[in-house]
Amino acid sequence: MKKTVAIDGPAGAGKSTIAKLVAEKLGYIYIDTGAMYRAVAWKVLDAGAGTTDEAIVRTAETLDVRLRFVGDAVRVFADDTDVTEAIRTPEVTALVSKVAQLGSVRSKMVELQRGMAKDGGVVMDGRDIASNVLPNADVKIFLTASIEERALRRWKEMKEKGYDEPMEKLKEEIAARDKADSEREISPLVRVPEAALLDTTGMTIDEVARKVMELCG
Ligand code: C5P
Repeated sequence: MKKTVAIDGPAGAGKSTIAKLVAEKLGYIYIDTGAMYRAVAWKVLDAGAGTTDEAIVRTAETLDVRLRFVGDAVRVFADDTDVTEAIRTPEVTALVSKVAQLGSVRSKMVELQRGMAKDGGVVMDGRDIASNVLPNADVKIFLTASIEERALRRWKEMKEKGYDEPMEKLKEEIAARDKADSEREISPLVRVPEAALLDTTGMTIDEVARKVMELCG
């Protein structure tokens, strides 16, 4: 039977790396829900009509966000623009939690996410997957790590992309995003009681992937 696997957790916990790897091993589809909120934030910046709640809602209303397979890789599209790389800039990261707090943006994304998961065989990562998007998911995992380790992982990731950001700044950005994501009114980041808690501090990617595969049965 093809299962649905929900992986939630704070920023920089390694969710996307692990979800992608596990999906590959299981022959499932990987759905990066954070990328979808990032695509909305990218479009808001690209439209240049400001970042008030009204402007964000208006932009999101008409935007078509899509995850498409191009060969083996999943690419992110905002309307017809491939924004896979563009959604990882510090500017998009700084705006995304504000975008993700808005009810109309969330309901549009959640509907798309449920549609993609309806036949099972998916590994979906985000903040509200087990609690809201897929409350009946077969496997629920809450992935976390210390703030120091998460900042270090983010620093390495950004460095590879050509950004050299001070560690302290990254730590502050991650803490601020965690706070906004955990304290928002609609579908905040929470660990549902039935989710397996996996603290990946000090663990290698392979070790975490193995543990998650065990949990997937
Ligand atoms: O996973 P990633 O860090 O790319 O997510 C970017 C942002 O998108 C998060 O900080 C959060 O504000 C938002 N998000 C969300 N719900 C999800 C996935 C991401 O609110 N399911």
